[in-house]
Amino acid sequence: MTESLTDLTTHLAEVDPDVARLVEAEGQRQSEKIRLIASENYVSQAVLDASGTLLTNKYSEGYSGKRYYEGQQMIDQIETLAIERAESLFGVEHANVQPYSGSPANLAVYLAFCEPGDTIMGMGLPAGGHLTHGWGVSATGKWFKPVRYGVRKEDGRTDFDEVRELALKERPKIIWCGGTAIPRTIEFDKFGEIAAEIDAILVADIAHIAGLVAGGAHPTPVGHAPVITTTTHKTLRGPRGAMIMSTEEHAKALDRAVFPGLQGGPHNHTTAAIAVALAEASTPDFREYAAQIVANARALAGAMMERGFDLVSGGTDNHLILCDLTSKDIGGKPAAQAMDRAGIELNYNSVPFDPRKPFDPSGIRIGTSAATTRGLTETHMNDIARWMDEAISAAKTDDEDELARIAAGIKEFLEPFPIPGWSQSV
Ligand SMILES: *Cc1c(COP(=O)(O)O)cnc(C)c1O
Repeated sequence: MTESLTDLTTHLAEVDPDVARLVEAEGQRQSEKIRLIASENYVSQAVLDASGTLLTNKYSEGYSGKRYYEGQQMIDQIETLAIERAESLFGVEHANVQPYSGSPANLAVYLAFCEPGDTIMGMGLPAGGHLTHGWGVSATGKWFKPVRYGVRKEDGRTDFDEVRELALKERPKIIWCGGTAIPRTIEFDKFGEIAAEIDAILVADIAHIAGLVAGGAHPTPVGHAPVITTTTHKTLRGPRGAMIMSTEEHAKALDRAVFPGLQGGPHNHTTAAIAVALAEASTPDFREYAAQIVANARALAGAMMERGFDLVSGGTDNHLILCDLTSKDIGGKPAAQAMDRAGIELNYNSVPFDPRKPFDPSGIRIGTSAATTRGLTETHMNDIARWMDEAISAAKTDDEDELARIAAGIKEFLEPFPIPGWSQSV
């Protein structure tokens, strides 16, 4: 018998079999594929548990001790825990854990420091920057005057002479560093020197690499960028959310920009899950995970290059590999779609100076964080490179049987590496 919908013990499968079936199928999908999307991960069971709590029932506009609703006895403690853990893990003076996601966090930065029409500077999207760093289709490119730096054609790396020249000429109010498709170490110190020269605020968007920074596998922006934004769900391996960290000097302006400037009530269940993820990120295990992500990416990059894959910048320093498939005579999109059918999940991506359109670009983007969380190590990376190569060959001859054969092999290969939150029911 189905129970009443108000019965809090009623489970999803009983109340909504349609949604339950799709969640189950997604669990199976995430379990059976090698997930190489650079922005994705597998969160722990503890993070899943916190995300699914009744903290979602509570409204908490404002900040701890200064709320607009009563009943914050527990929420204030949870948010304070998350803030203190962020401050101690990253070594920052201030943290705001309320932004709903990375894009709203970045919008809050604009609201804190800029007026509409102000000049701002960021890395162009095709070079690896993010939409919210002033790209044209984003509100940030429409409401501000964006100036964009790129990467050098020869080696795919940031050209700091170009950055400096542009900064001196355009004098942006804020300079963004960081991005979504940068396979190399971000040199926060060099950006910091340029920002100081023109009295701009350097904002480090570490959405992709926050887990590497926390785990000691990438240099920290602290001391160079007075403002740092990050998502919490990429390498940091927390729930979908974001944080803004800063020096004490900018704390008030940023807090006011998040609330009441941009948002209403914080998502308290997410805040709790962020606190859990930050505790996990403070452990020796997490440092090992961060180092392993980079070791895996290096091994995968090496194995790919041996197979003739052309990597932007010739390799990687972090979790991310950007690959130009022109030499393999296939576009990024058909390659990504074929690999998905072969059990390898990644995304097509523009490469710097891409002659093709963003919806049908030349490259693919690969990340090793989710596979590392699952327990894969360097010894498995050669297999992955081989499967990618085989899938591309099969795609070029429309060999669906071969793609299905690879997918079956990958499914079997992954069986010893279970994922949190889902298990094959017997
Ligand atoms: C992912 C990402 C964002 C945006 O995060 P959402 O949570 O998707 O809004 C912002 N900046 C960078 C560099 C990112 O990689």
